[in-house]
Amino acid sequence: MSRSTSLFEAAKHVLPGGVNSPVRAFARVGGHPVFIKQSHGPYLVDVDDRQYIDYIGSWGPMIVGHCHPQVIARVHQALDQGLSFGAPTEIETLMANKVCEIMPSIEMLRMVSSGTEATMSAIRLARGFTRRDKIVKFEGCYHGHSDSLLVKAGSGALTMGEPDSLGVPASLAQHTITLEYNNIAEVEALFAVSGSQIAAVIVEPVAGNMGLVPPVPGFLEALRAECDKSGAVLIFDEVMTGFRVALGGAQEAYNIRPDLTTLGKIIGGGMPVGAFGGRRDIMSLLAPLGGVYQAGTLSGNPIAMTAGLATLELIQAPGFYPDLFARTTQLVQGLQTEADAAGIEFTTNQAGAMFGFFFTAPEVRYFSQVMNTDTARFNAFFNGMLAAGINLAPSPFESGFVSAAHTEADIDATITAARTVFQSL
Ligand SMILES: *Cc1c(COP(=O)(O)O)cnc(C)c1O
Repeated sequence: MSRSTSLFEAAKHVLPGGVNSPVRAFARVGGHPVFIKQSHGPYLVDVDDRQYIDYIGSWGPMIVGHCHPQVIARVHQALDQGLSFGAPTEIETLMANKVCEIMPSIEMLRMVSSGTEATMSAIRLARGFTRRDKIVKFEGCYHGHSDSLLVKAGSGALTMGEPDSLGVPASLAQHTITLEYNNIAEVEALFAVSGSQIAAVIVEPVAGNMGLVPPVPGFLEALRAECDKSGAVLIFDEVMTGFRVALGGAQEAYNIRPDLTTLGKIIGGGMPVGAFGGRRDIMSLLAPLGGVYQAGTLSGNPIAMTAGLATLELIQAPGFYPDLFARTTQLVQGLQTEADAAGIEFTTNQAGAMFGFFFTAPEVRYFSQVMNTDTARFNAFFNGMLAAGINLAPSPFESGFVSAAHTEADIDATITAARTVFQSL
């Protein structure tokens, strides 16, 4: 028995499902998860000393690669000053200035410890600002696990909230309206009837939690226009896309200015960090300035800020994004070529250094298409790639992430592995 297998058995006695976050359990793809002991550059090493080329990157944060020497050195220095003070530190202002510089729509920022906290707090702030209760989200978008956001409509337009998770009160879920991602007509129809009751629209500007689905032309523009007309707050959830699809996130790539932005993942450089920010008039409603309460014992933690700020400095290097995007393109084009050669129905999406692939005909733009892909084939592909030393997300409904540490040779090795696996499907 491998060491990963025995560690998983032991974990299951004390951790529900053996994990601290559900996707890690491999429930969808079969088999058992690989336990990791260390990482460097684009690689993970498991407890059985097998090395993998990693396309999860801790689910996005590791954009400069694992264990980047500059990030690690800065964290070492910070550690010697103390782990947490519960009092203001200079680095929190340095971090906020850096984020405001990179994303001009953000005039003020509040740090938190996860993406979930960022979106939950942004929703509360939008409700406090507008003094309205209803929020709009899109099916297949994930905004963390707070009650108001764990709601997904059944099929059909304008479905009023049905809880997606046990434990979410229906009385709370009824304030969440779920629409189809990329369906402009549905958004316009809802706002024509209920615009004056809507506090906020929250959207992944590039959907990355149903595989990767980019916005169709006009979709984000329509959200901006309807929010302007109705006074609703437009929240771009850039926890995944921030610093990933462009330095300035999807708002830069698609040139739309949201009212509020939520951040996570890359902003912590691998440490637990989230943030939300935006218009000064809205952010000024947060305690202690205003009446919307939000707080955090470890918010702005100096070690986490250090890892995050070191990462944000590295990604501002000239040429960082063109190189990263070129390697991501090399990967998706290589995978498509090999799938075509093997006669497999397969299509890919790319947004900057994020990618998605689907076992279905091109092109995937809607949640219903994602739900109709060949997931059995995905599972076989996933397991074949893992056995060949390629670490992909263990679910057909997640995005992949390329880092600046991935070399052309790493991508070539990945495509070569994929050739054999596609031919075996
Ligand atoms: C990951 C993610 C979240 C949740 O962040 P956590 O740090 O896991 O709480 C929220 N929104 C989006 C778009 C995400 O990708």
